[in-house]
This record gives sequence, C-alpha cells and structure tokens, in this order.
Amino acid sequence: ARRNPDQPEFLQAVTEVMESLWPFISANPRYAEQALLERLVEPERLIQFRVCWHDDKGQVRVNRGYRIQHSMAIGPYKGGLRFHPSVTPSVLKFLAFEQTFKNALTTLPMGGGKGGSDFDPKGKSNAEVMRFCQAFASELFRHIGPDTDVPAGDIGVGGREVGFIAGMYKKLANNASSVFTGKGLSFGGSLIRPEATGYGTVYFAQEMLATRGQSFAGKTVSVSGSGNVAQYAVEKAMQLGAKVVTVSDSGGTVYDAAGFTPEKLAILMQIKNEQYGRVSEYAAKVGAEFQAGKTPWHIAVDIALPCATQNELDENDAKTLIQNGVVCVAEGANMPSTNEAAKVFEHAGVLYAPGKASNAGGVATSGLEMSQNAMRLSWTAEEVDARLHGIMKSIHAACVKHGQRADGSISYIDGANIAGFVKVADAMLAQGVI
Ligand code: NDP
Repeated sequence: ARRNPDQPEFLQAVTEVMESLWPFISANPRYAEQALLERLVEPERLIQFRVCWHDDKGQVRVNRGYRIQHSMAIGPYKGGLRFHPSVTPSVLKFLAFEQTFKNALTTLPMGGGKGGSDFDPKGKSNAEVMRFCQAFASELFRHIGPDTDVPAGDIGVGGREVGFIAGMYKKLANNASSVFTGKGLSFGGSLIRPEATGYGTVYFAQEMLATRGQSFAGKTVSVSGSGNVAQYAVEKAMQLGAKVVTVSDSGGTVYDAAGFTPEKLAILMQIKNEQYGRVSEYAAKVGAEFQAGKTPWHIAVDIALPCATQNELDENDAKTLIQNGVVCVAEGANMPSTNEAAKVFEHAGVLYAPGKASNAGGVATSGLEMSQNAMRLSWTAEEVDARLHGIMKSIHAACVKHGQRADGSISYIDGANIAGFVKVADAMLAQGVI
C-alpha cells in the first residue's frame, strides 16, 4: 500500500490473489524464491501519454492514454483497451495484473497487459470517435507489435474502435501484421470472438453447476450490463434453457419477469450496438419494467452473471442474493464483486467463479484469433466455439485441481489464483531475474 498510494482497485486485486497464495507458498517454498511475488506486483512497464484531438466544433480536446505492460513471462503482452472516464492508473494496473493470471489459465502463450484512456465515447459522433482513436494510435503504435504487445477491446472499445486504431497502426507502421484482436471479419478477425466472453462465462457456470448435478435448464438468471459480454451471456443462457430476467447499464436495471427471447435480444443489440442507446429505451420498446438507479441484485434468481464493471456487487448485494436462493455466481466482468462479497458467496457454499477464470474465454479466443492470423487461415464458427468450450472446461478443471479444500469443497478463487500463478512463476523462475 505504501508503494501504491491512491490505487484502491490495484490493491484490492493484489490482496485477493495474495490471500490465496500465502498458504500455497508456505507449503511450496520454491515459490518464495527470487522475489517472485515482489516482481509480480510491479508492472514491467507503464506508459502514459497525451492524446490531443479535434471535436466536431473544432475545439482541441486533451485526454490521457495509457498502456500497462505487466508481464511478458509467458508470451507477448496481451489485454484490452478501455475507454471510460473512470480510467486511472489504478484501474488499469488492477486489470493488467488480473490479465496476467487469466492469460496463464487459458493455456495459450500470452503475457498480461491493459491500456486505455479517460476518453468518454458516450455522446461522441462517429467522426469524433475516429479522430480520437487515430490520435490514440499515433502514440500507441510505437509500443506494440505482434510479438511485443497485442491489444484488444474492453469497456467502450468494440469492433468500431478496434478497426479505427488498427487502421491507423497499419498506416503508421507500414505493416499489415495483426497487432490487435477483436478485429472485423474483413481484416483478420475471428468468428465467435464477439460472443466469446459471454459464451465462455456461461460455459464455465455450466461446468460448476454440473459438479452438483445441475444445469441452466429451467433456471432464472440475472445479468448486469448490456454491452458485449452481457449480450452474449444472455444469448447462451437462453440457448441452454434458462430464463434471463435482467440487463442493466449505469442508468438502471431492466426487469422482465417474462424473460428474454431471441427477438428481444435482437432489439437490445440494435439499440446498444447500432444506436449507442440506453437500456431504458430498450425497456420502453419491449414493455419491460425499468428500475432507474438500481442494480439487478435485489431480484430473486438461481444464477447471477455480473457482466458490467468492477465493484458493482457488494457484501449486502451478496447477502440479498443468498437470501433469495442464488446457487451460482459467475463473473463476466473483471472484479465485479468486492472482496467482501466474494467471501460471503464462498462461505455460504455458493458456486462462485472470479472473473479471471470465468471470463477468460474472451482472451482465449483472442489467442485463437492470433493463431489463425499467424497461419493465415480462418476457422469456422463451429471450430472456434468448440475450442472455446474446451478451454473453459480445462480452466474449470485447473480450478478444481488447485482449489480443492480439505473438506472436498472447491474454492474457485484459490484455484484460479494458484493455477495461474504456478504457470507464470515457473516461467519466471526458468528465465532468471530480469
Ligand atoms: P461494453 O462497453 O460493451 O459494456 C459495458 C457495460 O457495463 C455497459 O452496459 C455499461 O453501461 C456498463 N458499465 C460500464 N461502466 C459502468 C459503471 N461505472 N457503472 C455501471 N455500469 C457500467 O464492455 P464489455 O461488455 O466488453 O465489458 C464488460 C466487463 O467485462 C468489463 O469489466 C470488462 O473488463 C470485462 N471483460 C470484457 C471482455 C471482452 O471480451 N469484451 C473480456 C473479459 C472481461 P453504460 O453504457 O451505462 O456505461
């Protein structure tokens, strides 16, 4: 805490990992060597830069851009870009730290990184977003490369923004190598990448439920958020026979007791992805209830899938969900539950998956996009989906192996942290003190 004042999100993420690692390292002292932990909590490189661009009125605007290159131990830095006014070094450091463990869990050779800007895409015209992305890329391009650092999307950065940034990279570098994932299909993107994080979260929850002989069929599900991850979590949960009763955004929650249908989801996608609209507009259009200023956690469900943002579910929300009978919570977002909420879930015996395990399907499929680009081939949707499904099963198996408690129960928090750590730590030990 002394080395990182004013970085609460980063300290929160580190605390959660360290609580899992202390007992493991005491039992496996080779991991106490070479200051592994001290090195792991220090990003290899932090880049901060000025981004100047013209708005539609001709005014010059100034934002901050960042890239955190956290760990290259097992492969090139890999992690998304976030454009949101809440972006700070603390938020990006927590995300880059988590990403390092998550990428190790995917079994693919990717290190950890994250980046972004405090730019707010809401209310900006398409031309303003393009000018901002080009200005952002004009500095970022010198720090990235297919074997150095491969960014992708995150909150506020979807296919449109990745296209603008990747296009500017190509122009500046005079090089067509694929330095981004989440690209459009016309210039090297992978089928199933848009779906991957949401689908993967549901696949992971499916594996957890199976340990207790349960499934999604007939279950009631709440989803928070309404962006990329949330939309495809809704779709897959529906396909598996569940009734999804909520989505949300920073303005409030839509509660639809009748549940989503494919037709309603198509309307939501059109409003969010084409009109950059709000869920309140969606609620009005389909005749569902809109609860302004509320999160979905007070609504009784069997399964909760938080897919919006960090710290959106606190200890009281966790207690309410448990009182209402929740059996499974799988995180599509990064660190949506506070550390206290996560402990409440685990103590109550809820099947609880931390984001670094359950949302790893997104970056795993980015890894598959990199493989396809390197081979100059495109796999079919079925092939990518089957690989994604297989990877989620193997992450679940790794969590079960490393998270087994003496009483036979499983801590997915410990499992994910220890399994991810072992892979990164072994690579660091083998490569010496660098
Ligand atoms: P999108 O930008 O597509 O959607 C973000 C959603 O979260 C929107 O509904 C947004 O509502 C809501 N949200 C964002 N910030 C806040 C806030 N401060 N308070 C309340 N609601 C908020 O992003 P993604 O779906 O890509 O990302 C969602 C989460 O999933 C993030 O935590 C991200 O890090 C994580 N993730 C994403 C992956 C991916 O492949 N995209 C991979 C792994 C994790 P509003 O429009 O009102 O801001």
